[in-house]
Amino acid sequence: MIIFHLMSESLYSLRMHARCQDSHLSGCERLAATDDLERLAAEMVGRALQHPRGRAERIRLSIDLVPAETIRRGRLLDLHTVRVDDYRQGRQAARQLLLAAGVHADAADAAIERIAQGAAPDGRSMRGAMLIDAVSGARLEADPARGVRASRMDLTPATERELRQRLAMRGLDNPHVREALVLATKVLAAPQVLAELCWSDDPDYTAGYVATREHGYVRFPHLKPPGEERGGRAFFVRGDSFDPEALSAFLEHAVLLIDEVGEIGGTSDWKEQPCGN
Ligand code: AMP
Repeated sequence: MIIFHLMSESLYSLRMHARCQDSHLSGCERLAATDDLERLAAEMVGRALQHPRGRAERIRLSIDLVPAETIRRGRLLDLHTVRVDDYRQGRQAARQLLLAAGVHADAADAAIERIAQGAAPDGRSMRGAMLIDAVSGARLEADPARGVRASRMDLTPATERELRQRLAMRGLDNPHVREALVLATKVLAAPQVLAELCWSDDPDYTAGYVATREHGYVRFPHLKPPGEERGGRAFFVRGDSFDPEALSAFLEHAVLLIDEVGEIGGTSDWKEQPCGN
């Protein structure tokens, strides 16, 4: 739930995009107070140079001042993990959760298949996310290579400390989980979005998640086989009320500073629903 109220201090939005061999390599977005700006900018450049899929050939770093009165505040989605044996079972479990959120089976299947095959036109990972009509499964993003990027969201430093402590108790304090939880919180704050599906393009990181308003951020330790470089994101939208400009404006430009940690739950076993279809 997003609570709108004014911040007293302006912040900087930092956005990094790195490319290698003419395709997307890595991206990252943060919000920083003036004191922290240089440190975070250096960290982002370091990250682009040390990506497991290669060394960046081009790094774009954008830094924009965000006026205090445009900053919204919110609470992180709750997180818990569903144990699955392998990526096939993980995808079945993810599909089941998407269906429970109102995504039609064909749309869920199409999204899983597109991410698995590399959703960009060249068969690699996109830079951003697909927008998928939750009923028809049609792709709605204007640019199928770039997709839509969620940006301008972050945790306050105190919230980040608390989140890291709570994640560490579950063995989950890593940048993948932290950043994805922040991203999914912003995506689900858009009323037009029903659910998000994601798995990483990092070949060493097989986990992924489905985020919905009802269940929060549900992690699956396996949504792809180890070594697989193709990953991606799908934001499922209600086709009947879909307004592409309003949604992109919110996801890309609205500024969300998260100042409250949600529940960080444990692990449960996946149970197949008899009519999960
Ligand atoms: P990552 O979890 O960083 O490995 O990203 C997995 C995939 O999610 C990428 O290949 C992109 O397709 C997509 N993605 C990464 N960052 C964003 C973002 N900020 N907004 C939307 N999609 C993203």
